[in-house]
Amino acid sequence: MLPPGERRAIMDVAGPLALEQVLDLGEGHAVAVVQSADGARWTVPLTADEGGVRRSRPSDGTAERLVGLLARGRGGRHAGGLGWQGLQARVVAGERGIDVDQTNESVIVGEQVVVKWMTRLPSAGEPGSPAARLITCLADAGFADMPAPWGFLTSGDGDADGRADGQLLASAVAYLPGAEDGWDWATADLRSLVRGAITMEQACAAAERIGQITARMHASLARDGVQHASAEQARQWRDAARAELAWAVQSVTGAEGERLRGWADRIDAALDGLASLSGTPLIAVHGDLHVGQVLRARSADGLPDRMLVTDFDGNPTLPSAQRWSRQPAAVDVVSMAASLDHVGRIVQFRDSALDTGRESGRASGPDQALVREWIAQAQARFLASYRMAAKAAGIAELLDDRLLEPLRLRQELREYRYAAEHLPHWVYVPDLALTELLAAH
Ligand code: ADP
Ligand code: MG
Repeated sequence: MLPPGERRAIMDVAGPLALEQVLDLGEGHAVAVVQSADGARWTVPLTADEGGVRRSRPSDGTAERLVGLLARGRGGRHAGGLGWQGLQARVVAGERGIDVDQTNESVIVGEQVVVKWMTRLPSAGEPGSPAARLITCLADAGFADMPAPWGFLTSGDGDADGRADGQLLASAVAYLPGAEDGWDWATADLRSLVRGAITMEQACAAAERIGQITARMHASLARDGVQHASAEQARQWRDAARAELAWAVQSVTGAEGERLRGWADRIDAALDGLASLSGTPLIAVHGDLHVGQVLRARSADGLPDRMLVTDFDGNPTLPSAQRWSRQPAAVDVVSMAASLDHVGRIVQFRDSALDTGRESGRASGPDQALVREWIAQAQARFLASYRMAAKAAGIAELLDDRLLEPLRLRQELREYRYAAEHLPHWVYVPDLALTELLAAH
């Protein structure tokens, strides 16, 4: 049922299993949607083996067969109820898995395309990942700062013109060889600055480019339609954000919890501002934009590095229906800016005695003032280049400045939650970030 690998979270699958849908890819390969006894649903690539079938492993060739199907163009409906949309006519061969932390299972085919099997699906009737919709919208608008899409496989019907709708089962996008994600390249850049190997200007260049890319992405997504928040929606934002604050105030323990409780009134007052934002513009957004979603492949010969935005599956902590809803552009701007801050916190904390001696105030390792300076500069340049590119694209009014502060605080509250649920020591990140954010006021 599940892909092999030690690094993924353990998931329980309760039997008996029911086969909901299956698409025969030919030559002993198929893709199935399987429901387990607990109602969970799964995408399962299958391979014929010794008279039976088993879950495909990278190198069996199931992803390669899917790419072959997509190369035949817009498929539309299949008798089994699955739909596909092919956007690239190329056929490639050879498969390998990738060895990184991943929620889903990605397979590289022919060193040219990444097939991502969406392992865990939402319940029937709920929308799945919005990636196909967002990527198609971006591609139609000519947005080039993402891996080129090769196609999508979906459950449910494609509509009349063969566009895939329904839950996303697999996506295929161009593979960027030698790519690093931002948690690697951005921390590396900052460490180079700290070592004195590059200038502040150079260390902030990538943040500046991400500002332009984000603005271009929003200009393309806005072509899908701009709506405006209702008074009711604005109140819901405030109430939901307050609930996140209440949760954090109750749940965060230790010195970090004490500090957070000391800030709670000020955070609450800032979140209150969300309620007055009815009328603010809403567009389709990336929804989970942070440096880790920006792949960068370094170029030789003085050419600019390639930087591409990936992972359009939306915010994994939100229910799937909410991942499809239009949101303020500030959601992406703030989560990216926050992640630049967090890159700084990682370097500040990991590379120094803060790791063991925060309370005693010992701080060796990187020049703390320099790291703080980088955080401020990188964020400022990101935002300035976003604004400039947004203005050039005619969408400057989509970024509502009144959202920046409350959403930024909400983002840090979400980091406490992430720490509690996935990575306990991550609590230092919102703690250090809020210490500085609130000290500035
Ligand atoms: P998941 O939903 O499983 O987290 P992602 O789409 O974020 O999957 O991809 C996981 C990792 O795979 C990325 O962090 C990156 O290292 C690598 N990756 C994803 N897409 C590409 C691509 N187009 N080219 C190169 N590497 C990629
Ligand atoms: Mg990801």
